Amino acid sequence: MLQNLLLNLIIIKIPVVFFAILLLYSGYRIRPEMPLYRYAIALVCGGAAVLCMTLPVVNAGGFRWDLGAIPIVVAILYGGRLPGAMAAVIYAAFSISGAEGQFGAEMLSLASALAYPFGWARRYERSSLTLKLIGGLGTSIAHYFVTLNLVLYLSHTFDANLSEDRWTFIVFQVVTIITLPIVSFLIEQMYILSTYQERLREAERLNMIGEMAASIAHEVRNPLTVVKGFLQLLSTSKDERTRLYMTTSIAELDRAEFIISDYLNMAKGQPEEHREPLDVSNLIETAVQTMTPFATMQNIELRALCEPGHFVLGDTVRFKQAIINVVKNAIEAMPEGGIIEVQSFRQEAEVIVKVLDDGEGMTPEQLGRLGTPYFSAKEKGTGLGTMVVFRIVESMGGKITYQSEKGKGTQVAMQFPAVG
Ligand code: ADP
Ligand code: MG
Repeated sequence: MLQNLLLNLIIIKIPVVFFAILLLYSGYRIRPEMPLYRYAIALVCGGAAVLCMTLPVVNAGGFRWDLGAIPIVVAILYGGRLPGAMAAVIYAAFSISGAEGQFGAEMLSLASALAYPFGWARRYERSSLTLKLIGGLGTSIAHYFVTLNLVLYLSHTFDANLSEDRWTFIVFQVVTIITLPIVSFLIEQMYILSTYQERLREAERLNMIGEMAASIAHEVRNPLTVVKGFLQLLSTSKDERTRLYMTTSIAELDRAEFIISDYLNMAKGQPEEHREPLDVSNLIETAVQTMTPFATMQNIELRALCEPGHFVLGDTVRFKQAIINVVKNAIEAMPEGGIIEVQSFRQEAEVIVKVLDDGEGMTPEQLGRLGTPYFSAKEKGTGLGTMVVFRIVESMGGKITYQSEKGKGTQVAMQFPAVG
């Protein structure tokens, strides 16, 4: 009895080890979605369950009681209903081939363990850890009571069995109840570890971009300075138009320099903490002016509808950069042209900036990935634009929300604490 109990416990470890290997080889993705993984889960968990059955801890008149239900529950919760059902079928096939007339009872015992997880499978992933542990415990307790009653009902030799190995039986009962929550806990911990691993890789990639940005910035800055110098010489020209063009060019060069340092800041992960009151409508209008040539090229009209006189705290260049990034995405989302509206207004203690387009829009999946580095649906996209926007808005103590529907358009709303 004791020997089989220990062997059962070792067998239960197999699915846990398997999940560890799966996570390693699936490149640390949070959930293995590929069909191949799901069939592998079915096979491994079903196999572990069958192994448990060949080593029953209690044998009551041909009825075998072991820990085999646990790997099947694991298959349902971590693989889904189909792999779970497949594992159960494997178990049932061995049960019928080896049962001493107790197939029905063995199936009833199994069903008592699987009923709740089967209903729970779809919502399981989104449940909290506590809920997962409580649900696992409840499942085990239901399974325990049904099986205990079956054993009591079926067993004639049960008393003898018990008195012979009373302590092992008590331990087995406890193990039956607590093993499932423990196994789920172990698997959950591995998933958590794997997300850390994923974040670490993300940080490494960002680091690389940072170094690249630093070297590019270094290379580009020098020619920019030279061009700026010559433009400054030319801007003393007598012709007023030329002077205007020159000053505009110099201003844009300045902006280019700022953008470079902005990306450098972003990559370093420490946005400059330079904050002053910003005139929102004024800055939006200059940002819109900057983007107008780009918009016109694509048959798009940019409209700024801004209430004047609202202020927020932030850095001029970075704030303008955020607006430009959002507007640029809106323009790129409207290949057929149209109208983009940029609004700003005061709402109680906040200044709201909205950018509305009726372009391509995004699917819920795309919306979910927005703001993560390198997510881009565009052929020549960097996938850094929105991340920079998110950071800027965050560093200003603001919030940003995207509402979007595929084919309908996108609404970006930024809320900042108002000054004054
Ligand atoms: P990039 O513009 O280089 O692709 P971004 O980080 O700026 O990178 O944007 C990421 C992705 O988000 C875009 O590729 C696009 O699919 C989506 N997106 C952002 N804004 C909009 C918008 N207004 N309409 C539709 N899709 C958008
Ligand atoms: Mg972009």
